[in-house]
Amino acid sequence: MSSELETRITENYTAVTDRIHQSAQRANRDPATVKLVAVTKTWPIDYLLAAYHVGMRDFGENRADELARKRGAMFDELGSKAANITWHQIGTLQSRKTGLIADNADVFHALDRLKIAQRLSRQLVENGRLLPIFLEVNLSGEASKAGFNATTWENDATQRQKLRTEIETIAQLPGLQIQGLMTMAPWGAAEDDLRDVFRRTRLLAEWLQANIPTATMTQLSMGMTDDFEIAIEEGATHVRVGRALFGTRTTK
Ligand SMILES: *Cc1c(COP(=O)(O)O)cnc(C)c1O
Repeated sequence: MSSELETRITENYTAVTDRIHQSAQRANRDPATVKLVAVTKTWPIDYLLAAYHVGMRDFGENRADELARKRGAMFDELGSKAANITWHQIGTLQSRKTGLIADNADVFHALDRLKIAQRLSRQLVENGRLLPIFLEVNLSGEASKAGFNATTWENDATQRQKLRTEIETIAQLPGLQIQGLMTMAPWGAAEDDLRDVFRRTRLLAEWLQANIPTATMTQLSMGMTDDFEIAIEEGATHVRVGRALFGTRTTK
């Protein structure tokens, strides 16, 4: 059964995957190395079901309770087929919400402080689970952005060493598997500035990889509706796209 909603989401999905392929090709990258995380935050379950039927299997939510609720609802709707879905927590966490993520998320993109890492680690060990994580880094200096401070990492040895020490500590915590870095580009910035943030994030991941033998830094979660093509050209392995797939959100 194909609804109007499914038709619209199919068209959007085709357009987004085409754009992903084209930007990967421009950068001489294999498009299969870029994962599209469909950001379903605020949308009701019929949107997620339509996305599932169109072929999407990676869903991103920015609130832990919404992720947990929708994961349960998709099991109710799809039964065991829902186990094919990978649930990405893309927003930062408050410490009282870590349990929901230790129980329900398959990937966490926005680890932004040690305290959250320690709580998650304890809860994951209790659950006997391993959670792939991205460390969120703030390179733009925008005060509204979360993340480990990396605004001037290239020129500031103190900032660089602090980052390195914190990540070394997180790399030793059981239950957490560091995959790489996540960043958010500054709102409404010019293309050159966006590109700069993405490129600097990739170089930071390379620096950390070279300097922290215990951490894997091969994945980069960066790029959203307005900037995912630039992010792919600069090395993104995960793009988190909402509006281009589902339309403009009316609530946050
Ligand atoms: C909402 C959100 C996105 C997706 O944003 P769009 O502009 O709708 O593509 C990506 N990442 C995070 C962390 C978000 O909160």
